[in-house]
Amino acid sequence: MNKLDPDISRRRFLASAGMATTGILLAPRTLFAQAEGLVQTARKTAADATVTVQKLRGNVRVLMGAGGNIAVLPGRDGKLLIDAGFAGARPKIASALESISSDPIKHLINTHWHFDHTDGNEWMHDAGAIILAHTNTRKHLSNTTRVEGWNFTFTPWPPGAIPAEVLDDERNVKLNGTTVVLKYYGPAHTDGDISVYFTDADILHVGDTFWNGYYPFIDYSTGGSIDGMIRATEANLARVTDKMVVIPGHGAVGDKSQLAFYRDLLAGTREKVAALKKQGKSLDEIIATKPTAATDAKWGNGFRTPKDFIGDVFQGV
Ligand SMILES: [Zn+2]
Repeated sequence: MNKLDPDISRRRFLASAGMATTGILLAPRTLFAQAEGLVQTARKTAADATVTVQKLRGNVRVLMGAGGNIAVLPGRDGKLLIDAGFAGARPKIASALESISSDPIKHLINTHWHFDHTDGNEWMHDAGAIILAHTNTRKHLSNTTRVEGWNFTFTPWPPGAIPAEVLDDERNVKLNGTTVVLKYYGPAHTDGDISVYFTDADILHVGDTFWNGYYPFIDYSTGGSIDGMIRATEANLARVTDKMVVIPGHGAVGDKSQLAFYRDLLAGTREKVAALKKQGKSLDEIIATKPTAATDAKWGNGFRTPKDFIGDVFQGV
């Protein structure tokens, strides 16, 4: 497995979590003074995040900048949130939610277990939310979980943050006058990824199976793989129409064409890396051939560098 430069990877993670514009990337004391990892730093600096609200269709909004993208459906049954962001961003998230409507937070769905999507679970539960997620998400949040790619071991989440309800395959949730369809991908980015489809608004939140404009992180430690990511992306493409709005886990709200580009990027990189690995080339030798050169300038500026991404692909082929 490739070793990351911790400072670089920390900076990149913060950038992809929407923090690049807050100035914290230029604050050396925050980032470099202590031998902290990406997870600790991301959690600490979340309070400085800039959270924006984007109105989509049919009353659905997306909050960006506080970790993974958070979808919000307000209404008479209370707000439904898809993912909870960083706990430290609570004041920013709470005021963004207030700006949408005064409905209390009543329902929270986690697309998967990662901390940038679930650290806010506890306060949202305290505020009145029932949490729903895949069985494997509850398992990881309930146990000590090591992520090699982040060099970090997570202790179990507090009891209030653990999903009270789980699904294994598919589930329909009727709320606020509409139906929301949850569907399990099978192992993809982790082993607990689900999609969330707002039927009337025709909006699909695909969690971290899709990073729009950033090389993705693939969490092999909890069941993710490049092949799983490609399968999930094929499933997204088979389902998404030209009119559908797609909310990625990270990056801008997108559509089918961007999803298709991302599929080609994942599958193309997999093919190149697998062929070179089969010839006996080492990871460093493969990185030196720059298999992702065409997209590095645009896609390599987020959480994962080109090197990190190639390493993630290499591990699974
Ligand atoms: Zn994730």
